[in-house]
Formats: sequence, structure tokens, C-alpha cells
Amino acid sequence: MVRIPPQSGVAFHLKRGQVLRVIDPEGEQVSDLVAFADGDASERFAAGYTTDYANSIFLTTGGVLYSNRSRPMFTIVADDVGRHDLLLSPCSEEMFRILRGVDGHPSCDENIRKSLASQGLQWDGTDAFNIFMNVNVAPDGAVSVDAPLSKAGDHIDLRAEMDLVVALTACSSEHTNNGRCKPIEYEVLDFSD
Ligand SMILES: [Zn+2]
Repeated sequence: MVRIPPQSGVAFHLKRGQVLRVIDPEGEQVSDLVAFADGDASERFAAGYTTDYANSIFLTTGGVLYSNRSRPMFTIVADDVGRHDLLLSPCSEEMFRILRGVDGHPSCDENIRKSLASQGLQWDGTDAFNIFMNVNVAPDGAVSVDAPLSKAGDHIDLRAEMDLVVALTACSSEHTNNGRCKPIEYEVLDFSD
């Protein structure tokens, strides 16, 4: 079990068949996930294709996360929460400036960049799978970011469908995490042993 402290991020490798378990230890905490094909930085997670193939903006158990080459990267094999977000980009320093008038705020965008840089990867993307993020869309298209539905100890399991480099955050936005930024935990389960 690895703990990601509040408002930070990590990057690591996953082998095909391994299961990434992302845990919300305290509840109501979002974790942004970005993934690349290991060894090919031009193939990465694509939220648009994922939505297209799912015919839904809400992925849960059985849902598949696709790359920009329409290849499966992950399959969700267990999900305690059932609500995650595919629409919004990771929070960024600029986003806090524009929406909240705050300078120099920690962000998922910065944490993803730094973590992936440590793996030799450059990230300049906007697509992420925002685990436990509770985004709702009204019939008129209005979007609201509501308190995550995750309770303390809830988790989601994602099976890697190819060798991957993954970045994972404990989201830095107070607004997204019902007022307080908390840690995230993860572990890699290897069923091939
Ligand atoms: Zn964030």
C-alpha cells in the first residue's frame, strides 16, 4: 500500500494483467489518473474515445478506458463508488487563477507533469480519468462539481490491458473534495503469480 499525501502525485509502471487498486482512505477525495503506453509516449489515455465506446460519461465496473489509438488501456473490474468523471481536465494553476483568483495553488496538472517527468515522460495533455470525482450534467448542459460519493475505505480496481506508465494524484482542489484535500492510497495487485 502506498500513500499519496494531500495535494501531490506519483507515477509508476504497471504490467499488463496487474490490477491497480485506488483507495479513498478518508472519503470524499478525488484522484486523477493519466496513463501512457509503456515505451511509446505517443499513445495515451483518451477521454473522448472512452466516452464514445462506452456510450456514457459514467464508467463503472466493466467499463474500459481507451487510448488515443482506440486500444484498451484499463478495464474497471471492481468499483465501490460508481461515480467518476471523464469530462473535466485536471485542476491546474491557471484554473485556480481563473476560477478562484488564487495564484500559485498546488494542482493535479503540476503534480502529473512532475511525476511523469521523473519517468522521462512529458505531459501536456488535458485528458484524465478523475476517480471518485462527482460531476453532474443538467438537461440544459449545466455542469456542477459536487462532493464525491466515496466513503472512507472505498476503492476502485483497474486491470491494466497493456504495459503502462501511470500518473495518479491526490487532487489539490478544496472545492472538488468537499472543502478539504486528503490523501489517496493505492496498491498494485498481481494475480499472475
Ligand atoms: Zn485536482
